[in-house]
Amino acid sequence: MKEPKKTGGCVICGNPKDERYKPFCSKRCADVDLNRWFSGAYAIPAVESDDPKSDESQS
Ligand SMILES: [Zn+2]
Repeated sequence: MKEPKKTGGCVICGNPKDERYKPFCSKRCADVDLNRWFSGAYAIPAVESDDPKSDESQS
């Protein structure tokens, strides 16, 4: 069992991090992580939430 360390490198592939994309090494790995979010690990209520006609009482 290995736990990813904050300073160990890209949290996705382990390559050296890039300042622009940390904690990832590249935009590709950042996208991989983003896809994990959208795959159901987290719910992001930021999609079309500006619609005043949306009724928030459905949750
Ligand atoms: Zn990476």
